Amino acid sequence: MKDSRYDDLIEATTKRGAANSASLFRKSVVDRRTFLQGAAFLGACGGLMGFGLTGCTPANTGGAAAQGWKAGTYSANVTGHNAPFTVDVTFSENAITAIDTSTNQESLGVGASALEDLSNKIMEYQTLNVDSVTGATLSSMSLQQGVKDCAEQANAAKTLAKAPGPDDSVESSYNADVCVVGGGGAGLTAAISAVQAGANVVVVEKCGITGGSTNVSEGALNAVDPERQQKQGIEDSVEQFYEVTYEGGHEQGTPELIHYLTDNALDSVHWLESLGVKFKDETGSATGSLGERSHYPATPSGNTYIRAFEAFAADHADQLVVLHETQAKELILENGSVAGLTAVHRGSQEITVNAKSIVVATGGFGANVEYRQQVNDGVWADVKLDDTIGCTNIKPCAQGEGLKLAEGAGAELIGLSDIQLHPCGTPGTGLMEDIRTSGRNRIFVNKSGERFVNEGAERDTLCKAIFAQPESTYWIVVNKVRYPSETEPDANGATIENMLALGHIVKGETVEDLAEQTQMDATKLQASIDGYNQVVAGATEDPFGFKANNTADRQLTEGPWYACRKVPTVHHTMGGIRINVNTEAVSADGEVVPGLYACGECTGGIHGSNRLGGNAIADCITFGRQAGTQAAQHATS
Ligand SMILES: Cc1cc2nc3c(=O)[nH]c(=O)nc-3n(C[C@H](O)[C@H](O)[C@H](O)COP(=O)(O)OP(=O)(O)OC[C@H]3O[C@@H](n4cnc5c(N)ncnc54)[C@H](O)[C@@H]3O)c2cc1C
Repeated sequence: MKDSRYDDLIEATTKRGAANSASLFRKSVVDRRTFLQGAAFLGACGGLMGFGLTGCTPANTGGAAAQGWKAGTYSANVTGHNAPFTVDVTFSENAITAIDTSTNQESLGVGASALEDLSNKIMEYQTLNVDSVTGATLSSMSLQQGVKDCAEQANAAKTLAKAPGPDDSVESSYNADVCVVGGGGAGLTAAISAVQAGANVVVVEKCGITGGSTNVSEGALNAVDPERQQKQGIEDSVEQFYEVTYEGGHEQGTPELIHYLTDNALDSVHWLESLGVKFKDETGSATGSLGERSHYPATPSGNTYIRAFEAFAADHADQLVVLHETQAKELILENGSVAGLTAVHRGSQEITVNAKSIVVATGGFGANVEYRQQVNDGVWADVKLDDTIGCTNIKPCAQGEGLKLAEGAGAELIGLSDIQLHPCGTPGTGLMEDIRTSGRNRIFVNKSGERFVNEGAERDTLCKAIFAQPESTYWIVVNKVRYPSETEPDANGATIENMLALGHIVKGETVEDLAEQTQMDATKLQASIDGYNQVVAGATEDPFGFKANNTADRQLTEGPWYACRKVPTVHHTMGGIRINVNTEAVSADGEVVPGLYACGECTGGIHGSNRLGGNAIADCITFGRQAGTQAAQHATS
């Protein structure tokens, strides 16, 4: 990713289309065997980074002509995870020569990555026999179906169905200094930090994609950053950051851990920059961040971090191996110390990783409906967290498996009932899509068009207020202040144009027009906007407590107006493995479990019972760096 084309590709990789081309680079972290194949393929096709894969010579073309293939380009309309798209497949008389999925709107690093990965494999092996990518199953199935449909049209399906697919089995045993469980934001940070500290590292990742739920995060990272904030006239301090984190978490967080986070978050920004991450020049405010210290990557979403991590991994392949589709099952203990783990590759191949240090970084458990209900006797005890409420996370990534692994080795689990709901859920799925609640210059109104809450409040306050509204839902209303252009991608790569085309949002040229289309009361909606504007203008105090204290706050006056329906959704689990500031896992009697470290959302004790927006990424990177360094020292000393 030293290649400057990469930035342009990512810029172009919006939900409007060109998603595919970038992930030829992106999928650079794979198990050793696949990596070699991938590298060879990249070498052959690296100069052809346009749409589709046109121009790569297929590896396995013999004998097909006799089957009577009808050369040409065929199309199939498929339904992806996020939206419908077209799969165009070009056939010669004996080979697939191009697969184009450039109209897809799948998520960067997740579905889009799976499409590219599978397209590569189908092309290289000239087969329909490619396994779905765990973590992006729906996207995988849409591509498989589309290519099959096209193959049938070209009379090529029978031959392609008989051709063997790739053998991506892995070794049965690996030796490493450090084994990291989970290749998401925290895990990859730990892995890279361990490599930087001189260790050899194996990462086991249950999905076929790298990056876990970090990929779909907005990437907001809180840190007090005088260099950026002073230019914006923002007054801030590490003490203030500590206070709002502690208070915002209802004084339930562990002070030493919060201090470690707030003291070291800026170093995490700089560490990411040292890996090539570019941040926007200005800081902003994630939803419920209680400050203006959220750093956003300059390119779309949390996937920006993952791309940088993958680049590092590709450059350090002799020290860092990522085994995809490999699920950790159990930790191996010798005399009370961690000695490695057992795992299963693609559901059947058993493998062992021998390592003196294990870092558990398996993410949260928000998508584990059964477990979250079992432990839900805290903030949301009066709300059923069954499957009528969605989750923002990638389902297989957020099952809480690391908690069991660590508990089995003697670690204590703490704060499990501290579950966070987020106000930015999409009705029906709970995914965080379309117009986001993060940032400023938006109002939240109920079905009648009335404001009902301070939009800048903590997430639990916001969600409680939403539950009190008719049908527990609301509209986020924005105007051209937030979206000056309908075609310009926002921080997550989405555009108003696409949201409208998919019917996810409603547009009105005037407030009245918007009210009519959303069936709000136009007078009430106008009054809500006027009232908000009065607060921004400093003319009045907001009855809900919104304070226009952000340098980005503007009055909302001009159309077009856009509205997007939202519901509360399960977002983050603040409880988990008990750690100390060295990220060592700690037992109920306060003893460390030798060789066991944990970082990221699978840990507890940092955020108390309400996490501030932008503090999770700060946590993953800050404690991930610590975990990697400590684990490497333990293993190599
Ligand atoms: C839509 C969305 C938006 C968000 N936006 C923000 C934001 O802007 N700012 C912020 O601070 N926070 C945000 N968050 C929260 C934040 O992104 C997460 O808390 C954080 O990314 C979690 O990182 P992690 O590394 O702990 O977990 P993940 O990134 O989920 O990584 C965990 C990895 O472990 C793997 N794994 C799990 N079990 C096993 C096993 N048994 N064996 C092997 N591998 C396993 C998973 O597959 C996954 O890849 C957001 C979250 C979501 C879902």
